[in-house]
Amino acid sequence: MTNAMEGSRFPGRYWHRLDDGRVQCDVCPRECKLHDGQRGLCFVRAAADGGMVLTTYGRSSGFCVDPIEKKPLNHFLPGTPILSFGTAGCNLTCKFCQNWDISKAREWDKLNDSADPDTIARAAVQLGCRSVAFTYNDPVIFLEYAVDVAKACHARGLRTVAVTAGYIKPEARREFFAHMDGANVDLKAFTEEFYHSVCGGQLEAVKDTLVYLKHETKVWFEVTTLLIPGENDSAEEVDALSRWMAEALGPDVPLHFSAFHPDWKMRDKDNTPPATLTRARDIARANGMRHVYTGNVHDPKGGSTYCPGCGAVLIGRDWYQLSTWTLTPEGDCAACGHKLAGIFEPRPGNWGPRRQAVRLHR
Ligand code: SF4
Repeated sequence: MTNAMEGSRFPGRYWHRLDDGRVQCDVCPRECKLHDGQRGLCFVRAAADGGMVLTTYGRSSGFCVDPIEKKPLNHFLPGTPILSFGTAGCNLTCKFCQNWDISKAREWDKLNDSADPDTIARAAVQLGCRSVAFTYNDPVIFLEYAVDVAKACHARGLRTVAVTAGYIKPEARREFFAHMDGANVDLKAFTEEFYHSVCGGQLEAVKDTLVYLKHETKVWFEVTTLLIPGENDSAEEVDALSRWMAEALGPDVPLHFSAFHPDWKMRDKDNTPPATLTRARDIARANGMRHVYTGNVHDPKGGSTYCPGCGAVLIGRDWYQLSTWTLTPEGDCAACGHKLAGIFEPRPGNWGPRRQAVRLHR
C-alpha cells in the first residue's frame, strides 16, 4: 500500500472504522485496513477525510465505441454499439491480466479523459449507442462513479453494462447491480487454489455473486472463462465449472470460453489452442449448458447462437460480425417459436466489428 495521495477525493461508501483507528474498506472481500493517507490494493480507494475516498471519480483512461459482442455479450442487444470506458486500478492481481496497462496503472496521466456522468450519457446517445459499459478495469472499485453514470444513462433511455470479476461484498453488490441492466462476469477458474495463487482472490465470493445475480436480480448476465494452457483448462475443471453453472445458475446463462494470449506476468504460456476451446464447449454442452461460445478465435460454429428447441442457427457470428438472424421481433425462434433467453430489440444492430476511439467534450 502506498501513501501517495493524488486524484480527486469523492466520498466513498461502504467502510467502517476499526477499534485501532484504521478504516476498513467494505467494497470487496479484500477488506483493506488502512491508516489515514494509505491507498488500498486497488490503488484508487484510500483512507482520507475521516473515511474512505474514491480518487478516480470523473476520470477515465479513455472512451471507445465497441461492438457489444466484444464485452462479450451475445444475448444483449446483438449488433449494437456500446460506449465503453474504464478508469484505473483493480482489486485482483491476476498474473495473466489482459488489460494490465489500465488495471495496474499507477500514473495519473493514464487518466487523461475527464467526464461527468451526464456528459458520458449524452455522448452515448449522440454516438448512436444503445448502452454504456463499465469495462477495461473492474468497475466495482469505482462504484460511486459507475452508479452515477448509470443513473444518467437511465435518464436518457440507455442501458448499462458491467464487465466485472464479481469480487464484491454483498452490501456494495446490492447497490452496484441495482443500477446495471447487463453484466459479463469473469469466472476465472474453478479452484480456490487458482484464485488464491494466480488472482489473489477467492472463488467462493465470485460464485456467491453469480448466484445472487441469478436469483435476486433481473440483471442479464453472461459468464466468461479465459482458458490458460496448463492452468485452468483441464477437462475435469471445465466439467466441474459447467456442471456447477447448470445446477446453480440454470442452462440459459451463456458461457464464453475465450483464448488466452501471453501477457503481464504470464508470458511463459502458449496461446490457447482452438481445440481446447472446442473441447471445453463440448463438455459444457454435454452438461446441459445451452449457449456455450468460443471467443478470441475465428470459429463461426462456436460463436453462433442456436435454438435450444430445434437447433436452428438463430444468430450467426464470426468474431463480432453478425450474419444469420432468424429471431422474430419478439425474440423467438422463427422456426419453432422457442423464446431465446436474453434482451433483444426487434431487429439486430448493424455496428459490425468496428472499434472507434472517441474524445468527449463537455
Ligand atoms: S475495493 Fe480496493 S480498497 Fe476496498 S477492499 Fe477492495 S482492494 Fe481494498
